[in-house]
Amino acid sequence: MARMTRPLTTPSVAQQEQEREREREREREREREQVPFPLPGAARDALEGLALGDAFGERWFRRFRAPEEAAAQIAARITPQESPWHWTDDTAMALALVRVLTFQDAVHQEDLALSFAATFLADSARGYGYGMHRLLPVLAERPEGWREQSRTLFEGQGSLGNGAAMRVAPLGAWFCEDLDEAVAQAAFSAEVTHAHPEGVAGAVAVAAAAAIAAAGRGSDAPSGAELLEQVLAVTPEGAVREGLRRAAALPPETPPTRAADLLGSGRRIRASDTVPFALWSAAGHLDDLADALWSTAAGLGDVDTTCAITGGVVAARTGVSGVPATWLTRREPLPDWVGAR
Ligand SMILES: [Mg+2]
Repeated sequence: MARMTRPLTTPSVAQQEQEREREREREREREREQVPFPLPGAARDALEGLALGDAFGERWFRRFRAPEEAAAQIAARITPQESPWHWTDDTAMALALVRVLTFQDAVHQEDLALSFAATFLADSARGYGYGMHRLLPVLAERPEGWREQSRTLFEGQGSLGNGAAMRVAPLGAWFCEDLDEAVAQAAFSAEVTHAHPEGVAGAVAVAAAAAIAAAGRGSDAPSGAELLEQVLAVTPEGAVREGLRRAAALPPETPPTRAADLLGSGRRIRASDTVPFALWSAAGHLDDLADALWSTAAGLGDVDTTCAITGGVVAARTGVSGVPATWLTRREPLPDWVGAR
């Protein structure tokens, strides 16, 4: 039996704080170990890159700097000095989606509806669009009704917005060993909130690009046109696919501002005027995340979302360690369960 002893000295405040921090770390470890399907490295990288792009892109909106100032700073590659860079709905929904994958290794649509809804109710001030403000509180009450409810948006057509595309790159990386599975799971993930075929097609295209980027780790990157052709091959017919076809034909040296004019950079917040430009930019900078994000930001438009898409796809291949260290310290952290960068 251990002999009871009195401590010689009372722990200092600093020691007590250290002990509390060790206990918090043990708690985080337990949380990470509890999920049946731990986050694979490429999916974590895509999630980190998506959040970085989202937070970086958000800085170029008018509420932070005037459009002329934003354009000049992007052209001169002047990093925003303010801190922190908060991430927005793009990252919030990506986290909700990846969390479902860690429990099920697949998209179970009713559970995903509930995950999106719970994430929204926990923090609805992340810049969600009009459709999600209408839909997600309803799904919180009745997640099993997701199919009918998602179709009621936009006069019964379902949303053709870019919201299913903006959150899906980590899913593509998750299923990178099987492109057909990545495509199928991306479509399931989109339907829960974006029932219109164009909303689904945008998600399919982004997930496919991320899957191909992740699968190619350790080997030479395909050319931009090659990547876009592979994505085209699995994207359903429609306006998103047509935009990707035009993107694939665009010379890689095209200035990004010109590419944004030709392809659209999300000003209409549709998948079809967002995904082609974001993927063109990713495809042209598959080995350099910082270059990819500067290029995408130059297109302005729905710039948190274009940068979230580009960032998720490129980081699925590169990770985020190549960007300037200040970008990572300024970006709002992700929840502990995502794990270390
Ligand atoms: Mg956003």
